[in-house]
Amino acid sequence: QISIVWIRNDLRFHDNTALVQAINDAQENDRLVFAFYLDPKQFKIGSNSHDYFFSSLNSFYKNCLEKGINIYFLYGDILNCFDELLNNFKNIKKIYFNVDEYGYGEMRDKKVTNFLKERDIEVLSYHDHYLHSAKDIRKNDNSHYKIFTPYYNKWREGFKEEELEVDYDKLMKIIFNDFKDNDALGKDKFYELIDNIKRDFSLFTGEEKARKVLKDFLNLKLSKYDNNRDYPSIDGTSRLSCFLSTGQISIREVYNNIIKMPPSNGKEVFLKELAWRDFYNMIYHFYPNQHNEEIIEKYRNISWSYDEENFKKWKEGHTGFPIVDAAMRQLKEEGWMHNRLRMIVASFLVKDLLIDWRMGEKYFSEMLIDYDSASNIGGWQWASSVGLDAAPYFRVFNPTTQSQKFDPEGQFIKKYVKELISIPNTYIHEPYRYIKQLNNQYGIEIERLYPKPIVDHKMQRLRAIEMFNI
Ligand code: FAD
Repeated sequence: QISIVWIRNDLRFHDNTALVQAINDAQENDRLVFAFYLDPKQFKIGSNSHDYFFSSLNSFYKNCLEKGINIYFLYGDILNCFDELLNNFKNIKKIYFNVDEYGYGEMRDKKVTNFLKERDIEVLSYHDHYLHSAKDIRKNDNSHYKIFTPYYNKWREGFKEEELEVDYDKLMKIIFNDFKDNDALGKDKFYELIDNIKRDFSLFTGEEKARKVLKDFLNLKLSKYDNNRDYPSIDGTSRLSCFLSTGQISIREVYNNIIKMPPSNGKEVFLKELAWRDFYNMIYHFYPNQHNEEIIEKYRNISWSYDEENFKKWKEGHTGFPIVDAAMRQLKEEGWMHNRLRMIVASFLVKDLLIDWRMGEKYFSEMLIDYDSASNIGGWQWASSVGLDAAPYFRVFNPTTQSQKFDPEGQFIKKYVKELISIPNTYIHEPYRYIKQLNNQYGIEIERLYPKPIVDHKMQRLRAIEMFNI
C-alpha cells in the first residue's frame, strides 16, 4: 500500500514529524510518495515572500533529487487535486502531514481531512511547527492566556522533546518515484514558478545553511544577544526567522541547542523571543478573525486614514524621518527588517500617519522573506495597540528619540539612506532641525538631498491618542 507525505512549510528532512512518522510506520512492502500542493490562492507572484518561499522549495526539491527522491506536485483546486492523487495511486491508505493551527491553512487542512476520511483514507496529522501547540499552554481553569508574561512563565516550566532522526536507509527502500511527471499536473507549474522568481534568495536557503546560521549564532552572538539585539547596525540577532517560517530548520533543533548553552542573559532573552512566536500562534488560533479584525472590540470602529500618498512615501522610505526611511529601504532591498525597526515603522504608519494597520500588515506580508501570518498580524496588532497584551495606545514611539537611542552614530541610517552619508552624526536623526548649521558649517543644502518630514510627530501623537480615545 502507498502512503503520502504532504510537504508544506516544513521543507526539511531532519525532525520533520510527519515525514519521520511516515517512514517509521511503513512495513516492508509499503511505499511512500512525497507530494507538494501548489496553492494558487497563496501565490503572491513578484513579492519577496513568494520568491523566498519558492527559492526554498526549489532548494528542498534539489536536495530530494540528489537523494533520489521525486516530488509529486499538485496544482489547482485543492479537492480536485487530492481526487487526482487518489485516482493516480489506486492503493493509497494513509496521508501524513504537519498541521496548520490557524487561518487559511487550518481551514484548508480541515477541508482536506474530511474529504480524505470520507474516502476511507487514514489521515495522520501532527503538530510540528511550534514548540507548543496552540492548545498546550492553559491557565488552571483551562482557558487560554491573554497576557504574555504569565503565558511565558508557564511556557518556561518546561519542554522536553528529542528531535526525530530520519532513517535514510529505510526511506530509500520504501520511496516510490515511479510516476510520470506528466501525470503530476503541478510539475509544469512548479517549473514556471521557479523560472519566474524575480529575486534569487537561493544563497539563504536549505537545511545546511539554516544549521550553519544557527551554529554561528550560538558561537558568536547568543551570549551578547540581550545587549546587542536592539541595535540595527549590529548583526546581533539570529536571522533564523526565514528558516523557521519555511520549516527549513526544526524549532526543536533550535531550542535544544539553545538549552545546552551555558547560562547567560542572552540565552534567557532569546528563549523569551521563541515564546513570543508560540504566543502569537496561540492567539491566532483562538482569534481566527484577527487578520482583518482588531482583537480589542472597542477599537474596531477607529476611523483610520487611507491616504495613498503618505502610504507610498512610507513604503518607499521617503517620509523625511531617517530611521523610518532606512528601515523601509532595507525591507525593500533585502526582504528583512530588524525587530526594533519593525516596531518603529509600524508605530509610525499607525500613530504618525494614522493609516490602517491592515495596509501595513499586507505590505509586510509581501515584502518579508520571513513572513509568518501569526507573528506578522500579532506584531502589527501589538504596535497598533489593538491586540491582546499590546502596547498601550498612549505609548507612541518617537522616531527621533528611538533613532538617537538605537542608532546613535547613524550607522544604520547611512547604510540605507545614502543621500545622508555626509551628514554629521549629531544632525542625522532630524536633519531639518539643523538646516542652518548644515548649511553654514558644512555647506550642505538638506532641501536638495532629502525630503522634509511629511508630518509633525508631536501633533500626530496627540491626534493618535485622540483617535483611540473612544
Ligand atoms: P531573533 O531576535 O534572533 O529571534 C529569534 C526568533 O524568535 C525569530 O527568528 C522569531 O522566530 C522569534 N521571534 C523573535 N521576536 C519575535 C516576535 N516579536 N514575535 C514573534 N516571534 C519572534 N516575525 C516573523 O517571523 N515573521 C513575521 O512576519 C513578522 N512580522 C512582524 C511584524 C511586526 C510589525 C513586528 C513588530 C514583528 C514581526 N515579527 C515577525 C517578529 C520579529 O520582528 C522577527 O521574528 C525577527 O525580527 C526576526 O529576526 P531574527 O530571526 O534575527 O530574530
